[in-house]
Amino acid sequence: MGKRSKDKRDIYYRLAKSDGWRARSAYKLIQIDEKFKILDEVRRVVDLCAAPGSWSQVLSKRLRADDPNTDTKIVAVDLMIMAPIDGVTCICGDITKGETAKEIVNQFDGSLADLVVCDGAPDVSHKSDFDEYVQSYLVLSALNISTLILKPGGTFLAKIFRGKDVNRVYAKLKQFFTEVMCVKPKCCRNSSIEAYVLCKNYSPPANYEPTMQALLPLKETSDFLTLSQSTNAIVPFICCGEESPYDADMCYPVELDAEGKHVPLPPVQEPISPPYAKYLMMKRNNELPKY
Ligand code: SAM
Repeated sequence: MGKRSKDKRDIYYRLAKSDGWRARSAYKLIQIDEKFKILDEVRRVVDLCAAPGSWSQVLSKRLRADDPNTDTKIVAVDLMIMAPIDGVTCICGDITKGETAKEIVNQFDGSLADLVVCDGAPDVSHKSDFDEYVQSYLVLSALNISTLILKPGGTFLAKIFRGKDVNRVYAKLKQFFTEVMCVKPKCCRNSSIEAYVLCKNYSPPANYEPTMQALLPLKETSDFLTLSQSTNAIVPFICCGEESPYDADMCYPVELDAEGKHVPLPPVQEPISPPYAKYLMMKRNNELPKY
């Protein structure tokens, strides 16, 4: 699918470019915050799986709006290199690895975060069980990092795929937070299994010792899951984003220029080091292998 057809189909993709957000994902955080006010009073936040950086842009804009020199701490982490954002410390790393967790913890100098958000998604294989499993693994990695840096009473927000085993993830989260809900912003398509878990009031089990390794590798993930008395939980499902006039499932007419043509806006931030760059370079130099 070309950028031009995406531009025509997806109103939030178009809006993001005209509003200066690096990705349409910005509206997901904005719509969740509009309803649940998760950014109120936040001073220290970790944005996991943050590239290209639209959530970090929202965080920077909201949390530093009154005073750009505030001591607000925003730490963003991704496998991909991220272009700088004012007031955001960017770390390039894999959130499933202990060394990345350590780097994040070091950024906080012994203090704790009010909020951890994770919009992580694997490269989808379209094999739904596999995608759901990898997604759950990212959520649990984000939870593990949160156990090291989230303050008691803090908030955790993470993308989930609402597949058949999602209740196991809810059960795990309910061990660590008194309030867990599944929220779906209006800018996510109804047909998509994507939604977010919003977990409030971090209160780990009394005997829980946070560790870098709690979830890793996979074998220990299952040990971690057995910590729970119950492996299934049902949580409230709440929609948000009602304030937005746009529905992600609808098509809206594009603006046309004087000649009646649609001219797509350029991206707000070109990828710095995309995985396809090497391929393009080899193609340009006529170095692609011949099969
Ligand atoms: N919230 C971002 C924004 O607003 O720009 C969009 C995030 S994008 C949907 C998902 C990101 O998850 C990708 O940038 C990807 O590199 C990252 N990701 C996936 N697995 C990861 C991992 N194990 N560690 C760190 N980042 C990861």
